[in-house]
Amino acid sequence: MPTTATATLYNNFIDGAWVPSAGGETFENRNPADTDDLIGIFQKSTRKDVEAALAAAARAYESWRLVPAPKRAELLFRVAQLLVERKEQYSRDMTREMGKVLNETRGDVQEAIDMTFYMAGEGRRMFGQTVPSELRNKFAMSVRQPLGVCSIITPWNFPMAIPSWKIIPALVAGNTVVFKPASQTPLSAVNFVKVLEDAGIPKGVVNMVTGDGDEVGTPLTTHEAVRVVSFTGSTHVGRIVNQAAAPGFKKVHLEMGGKNVIMIMDDADLELAVDGCLWGGFGTTGQRCTAASRVVVHEKVYKSFVDQFVARTKTLVVGDGLQDRTQMGPSNSEGQLNTVLKYVQVGKDEGAKLVTGGSRLGSGAHAKGYFHEPTIFADVDPKMRIAREEIFGPVVSVMRCRSLDEAIAIGNAVEYGLSASIYTQDINRAFTAMRDLYTGIFYVNAPTIGAEVHLPFGGTKHTGNGHREAGVAALDVFSEWKSIYIDFSGKLQRAQIDVEQI
Ligand code: NAD
Repeated sequence: MPTTATATLYNNFIDGAWVPSAGGETFENRNPADTDDLIGIFQKSTRKDVEAALAAAARAYESWRLVPAPKRAELLFRVAQLLVERKEQYSRDMTREMGKVLNETRGDVQEAIDMTFYMAGEGRRMFGQTVPSELRNKFAMSVRQPLGVCSIITPWNFPMAIPSWKIIPALVAGNTVVFKPASQTPLSAVNFVKVLEDAGIPKGVVNMVTGDGDEVGTPLTTHEAVRVVSFTGSTHVGRIVNQAAAPGFKKVHLEMGGKNVIMIMDDADLELAVDGCLWGGFGTTGQRCTAASRVVVHEKVYKSFVDQFVARTKTLVVGDGLQDRTQMGPSNSEGQLNTVLKYVQVGKDEGAKLVTGGSRLGSGAHAKGYFHEPTIFADVDPKMRIAREEIFGPVVSVMRCRSLDEAIAIGNAVEYGLSASIYTQDINRAFTAMRDLYTGIFYVNAPTIGAEVHLPFGGTKHTGNGHREAGVAALDVFSEWKSIYIDFSGKLQRAQIDVEQI
């Protein structure tokens, strides 16, 4: 990549080559902890670039789909090994462009490693079914088949993990991809694609086009060459993607917003619950789809919990994620910070009690970044906007309940359905809550975050559209079933019509 006096210029990756956008425009990527730090200059691509990438992916599909899956997987094992070797550098790059603390970006790269090893294993499984036929001398089975070209559209909060959750299962199943990363974190996308290139993935199988959601995203959701659109991002954009892809009957996989709840019962280990709420609420600066932005606490332990939660929150060290002592980084962008500031005002206007935080940190070591104090509102009414709308920042709403039933009702009273958790020592309460929370993920005595790559990940209601990533469920997104019947009787046999005499 050419480096100017100030920053490196990064290109798109199309048909096995790093190329500039046909339109000749670029955009800057800056460090959210220090906006003087210019990380790189990236291609502001056009529809023409997307069309070139889709054409390359369509050509490559014709040979990639025929490569035996265990052989495709061998390349993916190599991808995982290279990620292991480059983990530290890629984690540092990620903290610099995304803002979350180094330990968390190491976790992000690790998730990509785990997913790649796991999915590469699927190259030797990808089980179908063989079933007995109802007719004699007839064989019946089903196999997974790839679909073709997949559009992969990702957000900025997990800049390597989420692309890996989509691209790797797509590839092992025999598809080819065009990948559009979020414009806030294009360096991690470049790093991931570089690994795929270096591992020897054939040209055209993986393509990457950076740029605006509208200009790049629209052809990725509407072009006739695309068979699958896999999108992770906001519910607002997910709806646009869904509608854009519908006329072409594309398979659309959507992972969208969340407003996740931790429920704390009167028999909970309160110290453990506070640990969980700190990690769930302020990990990744609250910028996780699974962030615990709502906490519902039994009235018998409410005061004690709030006192401990506030006291611990006040000790969190906010700063540049590359520094060892930092526990919470900045918001990822000015827009994200403004959303946080807006919702803090909304909370105050609605009459919630601001018990800690509530302000931007803008002086000294924080002067050049998008920093905000970790913030807690107590005595929140479940009907308030801060209790219902996704803020995607370090703001937690604490609510009071009188019973498990009430906690579950509050937990379910949002439009999202991603993750929920309960802290209790009572197995009956734990199982009741597990059954009755309408979410895709549920935790007992742990916060709302902590998914592992070998179980399905995704949500209900306005969080998802019924698909899941991770686990074998990801293969359901990136493959289609073909049922096959082989009649070796040598005569016409009619299912459901010919009567078998036993
Ligand atoms: P976003 O919706 O703004 O953008 C997501 C991606 O869509 C980006 O790459 C963006 O450029 C692209 N895009 C924008 N407009 C488009 C269009 N018209 N057509 C096609 N693509 C378009 O989301 P974000 O701010 O990047 O990420 C934060 C959101 O993502 C939050 O709502 C969060 O909850 C959600 N998220 C969900 C999950 C999950 O698994 N459910 C995981 C992580 C993040």
